[in-house]
Amino acid sequence: MAFRSIATSDRSPARLTRIIRTRAELRDALDDVARPVGLIPTMGWLHEGHRALIRQARAADATTVVSIFVNPRQFNVAKDYTKYPRNEARDLEICQSEGVDLVFAPEAAEVYPPGSDTTVSVGAVAQPLEGAARPGHFDGVATVVAILFGLVGAEHAYFGQKDAQQVMVIRQMARDLAIPTQVIACPTVREPDGLALSSRNVHLSPGERAAASILRQALLAARASWEAGERSAEALRDAIRETLMAEPLADVEYVSVADSRTLRELERVDGPALLSLAVRFGTTRLIDNEPLGAGPVTT
Ligand code: AMP
Repeated sequence: MAFRSIATSDRSPARLTRIIRTRAELRDALDDVARPVGLIPTMGWLHEGHRALIRQARAADATTVVSIFVNPRQFNVAKDYTKYPRNEARDLEICQSEGVDLVFAPEAAEVYPPGSDTTVSVGAVAQPLEGAARPGHFDGVATVVAILFGLVGAEHAYFGQKDAQQVMVIRQMARDLAIPTQVIACPTVREPDGLALSSRNVHLSPGERAAASILRQALLAARASWEAGERSAEALRDAIRETLMAEPLADVEYVSVADSRTLRELERVDGPALLSLAVRFGTTRLIDNEPLGAGPVTT
């Protein structure tokens, strides 16, 4: 009986994950890796949602790169940045267990070296919803992702549909800047009660955590209404708001029924649409969405 060489299992989780801190090390590490390369940009505090992105990359790409960087430029509220959860040791264990090849975990000065003075600002699709609620947020996102795309030169990059507008902003940015990395949107991973996994969920008190399942219920109430034939966007917004109103801990920031190509608010839903919302529970701000019909972010 022939022994299988250990090398044949080099895509198993046992493969060592390499941690990289600098642009120069990253360039060296990527010099002769197997292609295609898949990049998963994250801010750490990894959970099942991130794992799903990693698995999708592992299934399609020969080399998987996870970036872990809490990007100061995408936080429009300083306190939100300082209290963002961080646990690099745990994140690295998760990357190792998922068979990630490279983890790029730089300091801010490595991403934005002294003298760096460019901001990538995406147009119309970045203006409503999260763009309006969090001024400067998408400039920060588009800028850091453009830098990561430039540094890694991946064939594919994986993002979660949970942040549907972010996917659209990044697609627009990559298209406009002629960056060849293909942006792939992955389905939202949820808790059993429907709450979308998010690093921010850790800040919810037990009562807020229980209440937060209302977000999914509200979106599904509107979906059910749409499936029953309702085409008035305002009626669908009302269905979402009414469900949310039943939960006293839910402090609604916005409720949207928008064209899923432009994110402009609709009067009638006659094509692909995106239901989305932002709701605060105490000091924790959560977002979620639900596409109606085939939309660009579902691919
Ligand atoms: P973050 O670390 O929160 O910046 O997220 C990194 C990537 O993971 C982004 O593309 C997110 O959209 C994605 N992501 C976050 N939560 C989920 C989730 N529950 N399901 C799928 N993807 C997610």
